[in-house]
Amino acid sequence: MHPSDTIVAISSSVASDATPAARMIVRIAGPAALRISSGFIEQFEPRHAGAAEYTLSIDNLPVRAWVYTFLAPRSYTGDDLIELHLPGNALLARMAVDAFVAAGARLAEPGEFTARAFLNGRLDLPAAEGVALAVSATQESELRAARQLMSGELARRLGPHLETLVETLALLETGIDFSDQDVTFIDADEIRRRVGRMQDDLTRLLNESPQFERLTHRPRFVLMGRPNAGKSTLLNALAGHQRAVVSPVAGTTRDVLSAEVKLDSGIVEVTDVAGLDHPADDTIERQMQHHARRGIEEADFAIHVVDAAATNEDAPLPRPADLVVMNKSDLASAPEGMAVSAKTGEGLEQLRSEMNRLAFGTDTAGSRVALNSRHRAAIEGALHHLAAAAAVAETAELAAHDLRAALDALGSVLGQVTPDDVLGRVFATFCIGK
Ligand code: GDP
Repeated sequence: MHPSDTIVAISSSVASDATPAARMIVRIAGPAALRISSGFIEQFEPRHAGAAEYTLSIDNLPVRAWVYTFLAPRSYTGDDLIELHLPGNALLARMAVDAFVAAGARLAEPGEFTARAFLNGRLDLPAAEGVALAVSATQESELRAARQLMSGELARRLGPHLETLVETLALLETGIDFSDQDVTFIDADEIRRRVGRMQDDLTRLLNESPQFERLTHRPRFVLMGRPNAGKSTLLNALAGHQRAVVSPVAGTTRDVLSAEVKLDSGIVEVTDVAGLDHPADDTIERQMQHHARRGIEEADFAIHVVDAAATNEDAPLPRPADLVVMNKSDLASAPEGMAVSAKTGEGLEQLRSEMNRLAFGTDTAGSRVALNSRHRAAIEGALHHLAAAAAVAETAELAAHDLRAALDALGSVLGQVTPDDVLGRVFATFCIGK
């Protein structure tokens, strides 16, 4: 990434040489974009932004093309940028790119135009991620998430907290600077109040946001529980057709079986694995159980199927359950938990809607912003530091340290480095010492 380079690439999607796009777009950006383009465009007027039709000369081949000129900083990348809209011929577009490279441009790396836009402050980091997602999107839900990111939704949600953190830090640090004069600008109660409000809002953001990665793959559920609890029967009942082998003999579900289950907001995959506490007395059995454990670990959500009619305790589970269902409610009423009967269908509707909520959130079409794992990790990091700050709110130096760490974490979501303007803010706000 050298912003002083001038980069070039074909930016329209090249389906194939056989079925080219209606027109091919070649994009060139950087300090030498205007100069290099001028060498190929007859009577080019690069001083003005805008679009006009020109004759290009590519390898001495005259080509009519629309030329779009964007001047720094008012361009996608923030530097001078030219787009050539050539006739839909992939070979011609490649020849143009080669000619520009021969004239001093460099082939752009993947995402480099967008990276430049970010580095030049034209986009925040989530918006850049949105661009990448929009390009690779294969589903409506991905496109919706991409649009939200590109529109700066996440920045709008986090902005007020960044403001609060910067301001709180400013107050705290001013207090520290003037501690010998026994003045404080913010007390521990107020710090805890502010931190509490941020914790509530950020926790809600994490809980309510669909997971970005989940949008790109079908959510996977795994049924776990002891043999004979009714997992295969439940899988069949959910799938609505015979898929798994059901048998009254414990441990008959011998392999991983899965079925697609249509829920209100989309399709999920439900997997039933071999009974885990069946004695693993030979190698094959052990391998199967190993396989089963993997299946359980890798699923997005785990449903613990308990036999409500059984009296003995369940063996320890390989992971905590996201949902516990008390199966065989037709035989016994369970004292607690969600009662279902895979056999009679009782409680299945409730189970489906609960699964729907887990997989897709309460309302998938809503305005909630999807978070990717990078966003999540950073917000969780911020929450961790906020909790630490609340715990040491009485001691200004310690609280400031944790709040700054929270600010760093939250700022990193948007690709901001620590604003070093905290101190600047102090003096702007208070004019102490003049
Ligand atoms: P798995 O080992 O957990 O997969 O259990 P299966 O699905 O093979 O079920 C074990 C036995 O319990 C079978 O005989 C099922 O017919 C029976 N079963 C499963 N669910 C129910 C239920 O809700 N009610 C009743 N009465 N029997 C059930």
